[in-house]
Amino acid sequence: MNKIYLDNAATTPLSEEVIDAMVDVMKINFGNPSSLHSFGQEAKVLIENVRRQVADYLHVSPAEIIFTSCGTESNNMIIQSCVNHLGVERIITSPMEHKCVAETVLDMKKRNGVEVVYLRPDQKGDFDWAKFEEILKSSDKKTLVTLMHANNEIGNLIDLQKVANICKENNALFHSDTVQSMAHMDLDFSDIPVDFASCSAHKFHGPKGSGFAFVRKASGLKGIITGGPQERSLRAGTENVTGIVGLGKALELSLNNMESYSSHMEEIKNYTISQLTQKIDGVKFNGRSAEENASLYTVLSVLLPFKDPMIGLKLDMKGIAISQGSACSSGAAKPSMVMMMILDEEEMENCTPLRISFSHLTTKDEIDVLINALEEISKDFTIEKTNVEHR
Ligand code: PLP
Repeated sequence: MNKIYLDNAATTPLSEEVIDAMVDVMKINFGNPSSLHSFGQEAKVLIENVRRQVADYLHVSPAEIIFTSCGTESNNMIIQSCVNHLGVERIITSPMEHKCVAETVLDMKKRNGVEVVYLRPDQKGDFDWAKFEEILKSSDKKTLVTLMHANNEIGNLIDLQKVANICKENNALFHSDTVQSMAHMDLDFSDIPVDFASCSAHKFHGPKGSGFAFVRKASGLKGIITGGPQERSLRAGTENVTGIVGLGKALELSLNNMESYSSHMEEIKNYTISQLTQKIDGVKFNGRSAEENASLYTVLSVLLPFKDPMIGLKLDMKGIAISQGSACSSGAAKPSMVMMMILDEEEMENCTPLRISFSHLTTKDEIDVLINALEEISKDFTIEKTNVEHR
């Protein structure tokens, strides 16, 4: 059975070129970048080259890029350090954030007594920016705003420029979890006054265990891992040279091909939307997922008009890997916070969310196989419904 992978928001397969670049480092450049001899200095040069490459992409200074082990670590470091070192007493966030942000914020509330204010989304997953400004102005406490750029479940994008400007005007620090959008979109932080952002290489065909944090120099942020001078003392520990080089190669490939990759994925996404609409009666799309400029082209969040908590497993048995992003309140999957925010009671009770996420490798043929499988599965429910109606 040919397997089909449609869970690229969870992780992406490594590119061949990335593997080759990493193998070269493992075989040849094994020196410790802190060593003063040539082995160490050669490894150091590799890291600094990637740092410059990342900085050029974001239009920032190389000194503002801190290599970390992943998106989770970057987000933890930024939020914890804002509280522990920069005197943040209030955090404004949303219930739509990834767990690594949501739980870190809660931890700061529990351990440091930080006040947490949640910005509630509407049923489209949008926020009321006038209300946001009102909340910002309602307190003199030093505030950190943490809102993700692209939602990992429904793909909704926020206007980073607008939110960053509002934060700046109100003297609040602004962190955005950009794990889903980095390397998929152009980001110019010389223009967008965001203070902190995060990246994870495995979301764009790079290796797992490699990411970075963007830390605006003027912010004065300190690290949370101590014990060494690496990464300007912001992240102690011998650098993951292999992972950093893998990140650099993956970023290079993404940026060089951004136009063709994004137009391919947009076409695949539109095709998926039209096929689902034609073939699954009553299908809906969550949030702004089906709207071209309001959502990330890599993610399509679908709401199937029947309740099947086992759908992820059924598709897996047919060789299709996909994320359920479930709203079911019992059974195998727990309801996700995002779905609880945007779905109404009836939808939570009777529908099944499904997250289809694409890469440049996804083909229309693969989408056809998925649509056929979903048609098959949906027939069981149509029959069930008909039987109930006839009883
Ligand atoms: N933030 C978002 C929006 C994500 O989607 C993910 C991963 O799924 C993370 C953070 C965590 O990244 P990592 O897997 O590199 O820890």
